[in-house]
Amino acid sequence: MAYVAKTLMIGRCRRCGKKVYKGDDYLFCENCKLILCIECNKEARGVCPACQSALKLM
Ligand SMILES: [Zn+2]
Ligand SMILES: [Zn+2]
Repeated sequence: MAYVAKTLMIGRCRRCGKKVYKGDDYLFCENCKLILCIECNKEARGVCPACQSALKLM
């Protein structure tokens, strides 16, 4: 059998570059399509660093 990926990478944290996978908790800005990991959200505090709107917990 060919290799089957168990995890789907959604993208990288805009701030630290950490990979974010499907099933992970992360913050998402619907305006910018920006991804922030949980660690970076401790500083961002749920606010998008680009457009200042509220991030959505995914
Ligand atoms: Zn991060
Ligand atoms: Zn934004």
